[in-house]
Amino acid sequence: MHHSSYIELSKSALQQNISFIRQQVGPEVRISSVIKGNAYGHGIEVFAPLAQACGIDHFSVFSADEAQRLLEALPAPTTIMIMGYLDFPELEWAIKNGIEFFVFDLQRLSEAARVAARIGMPAKVHIEMETGMNRTGFEALMLDQVEKLLRDAGQSVLLQGLCTHFAGAESYQNHNRVMTQLDRFDAMRQRFLKNGFRPKQLHTACSAAMMQYPQTHLDMVRVGIMQYGFWPSPETYSSYMSREPHIPDPLSRLINWKSSIMSLKHVAQGDYVGYGTSYNAPRDMLLAVVPVGYAWGYSRSLSNQGQVLIRGHKVGVVGMVNMNGMMVDVTDIPQVQQGDEVVLLGKQGEHSITVASFAELSTQLNYELLTRLPLNIPRCVVP
Ligand SMILES: *Cc1c(COP(=O)(O)O)cnc(C)c1O
Repeated sequence: MHHSSYIELSKSALQQNISFIRQQVGPEVRISSVIKGNAYGHGIEVFAPLAQACGIDHFSVFSADEAQRLLEALPAPTTIMIMGYLDFPELEWAIKNGIEFFVFDLQRLSEAARVAARIGMPAKVHIEMETGMNRTGFEALMLDQVEKLLRDAGQSVLLQGLCTHFAGAESYQNHNRVMTQLDRFDAMRQRFLKNGFRPKQLHTACSAAMMQYPQTHLDMVRVGIMQYGFWPSPETYSSYMSREPHIPDPLSRLINWKSSIMSLKHVAQGDYVGYGTSYNAPRDMLLAVVPVGYAWGYSRSLSNQGQVLIRGHKVGVVGMVNMNGMMVDVTDIPQVQQGDEVVLLGKQGEHSITVASFAELSTQLNYELLTRLPLNIPRCVVP
């Protein structure tokens, strides 16, 4: 094995999550698999073909480079939608490849129309509405100009979608804000319809909105975090569980991050371990060196705090997490050996290390921790 750790993705877990999502939205609503942030750290090149094999036929990415990686990674054609970054020089490439994209300013819209007319292929656009997130999207005031550009563009611009994004559907604290957003979206959509525009797809919901507000499902949901087996927030989880109290967690994590013991070392009681004096051995100990450190996204703030699984035991990190390695306490694991599997994240036997437990210790969100898993850890699929 060339690499000091690798990430396994479970196909059966993904199948389970996708069927749960399908159950939430019913048979008619399109599911778009959101794979920005390197598929939330799972790796676009391995995750996307797996999702396609599980029936996904629509993908949402943030930027053109992700769309390009997706095109190259997928064995079969699919729909790709860019929600964010797409530079003008790449518009021609996007249109030629049938890649759909969000439009949230007049320049992108007019430029897309111009390029589409020149190459004789339609630009498939999703008009993004500003409804209260205050990130990207057209203000209501600008819709006159949007409609004029769309009319002038004629067949060059295909109105594929009308969409918006909610500012915090994962917390009831934002309930009123989300409701206002939905009302505004509805008003803008009415206006488009009244003026003779027929967007093919209306879409607003992320994972949290899908769970908390079924009225946001419309024609398509854009689901990120939940397909990977994570709830958008503890609140979304408890809210679902209070409605369905008899079942276990319907989601299952895909990810198992594994390494192995590089070497073992005896340390005498009273000795310091690793850099500095943050850990002093309280007894004679056996330590295992695990060749993963902060260079691979294992946060330094897990020094003396993190836990890993070895031979079905949960054991703690001792001393500081280094750039390329860390020490864990294996004193109480019988027959522990060099080469033993070490689970940094995921399941082994009865135990599991959750991203949430990481996140609490290092004050990162699931989202943040996952997307910080480096690109260069190899990913592979397991059944
Ligand atoms: C990230 C994102 C989503 C998906 O959010 P999740 O909470 O991961 O489901 C949907 N829509 C937009 C515009 C996004 O940026």
